[in-house]
Amino acid sequence: MKCPFCNKKMAAKKDPYHYTESGLDNVFLHTDVYKCDCGETIADIPNIYGLHELIAKALVKKESMLMPKEIKFLRKKMYLKAKELADMLGVTKVTVSRWENGAENIGIANDKLIRFIYAQMFQEKCKEIVEFIDNVREINPTARRKRIIIPKKDIKGAVCYF
Ligand SMILES: [Zn+2]
Repeated sequence: MKCPFCNKKMAAKKDPYHYTESGLDNVFLHTDVYKCDCGETIADIPNIYGLHELIAKALVKKESMLMPKEIKFLRKKMYLKAKELADMLGVTKVTVSRWENGAENIGIANDKLIRFIYAQMFQEKCKEIVEFIDNVREINPTARRKRIIIPKKDIKGAVCYF
């Protein structure tokens, strides 16, 4: 792999890739990563839409509450505007914005509803809805947030249903 900026040969790296381009701060990818002396880093992501779907599923399934950036990530993954999500939940657009910038706590009811909306949108596309519903039942407001780690085989086989 050659660096697209300086054209030098890039060295392969072993560490998980901290995928901050997702807009999230705790997503790590187990994929091939190449590093150049000029500072450029490139991660092998064959299907970015499929990968974002894997991340969205990990968010829906996680035990801890959704963090502000995670709420925004899920909303965007559902291709909903803040106003559209607000209308579905019976809150105002301002409330959704405040959840997404951390000014207001989402609360467990709306956290669960957002996950159900996501699962419902996928109902016809995948068979995971029952599993999702079980996961949403398990949300624990006091659970500690964990890293989201996407394994290599999943990144390689990522598909997008939308
Ligand atoms: Zn370079």
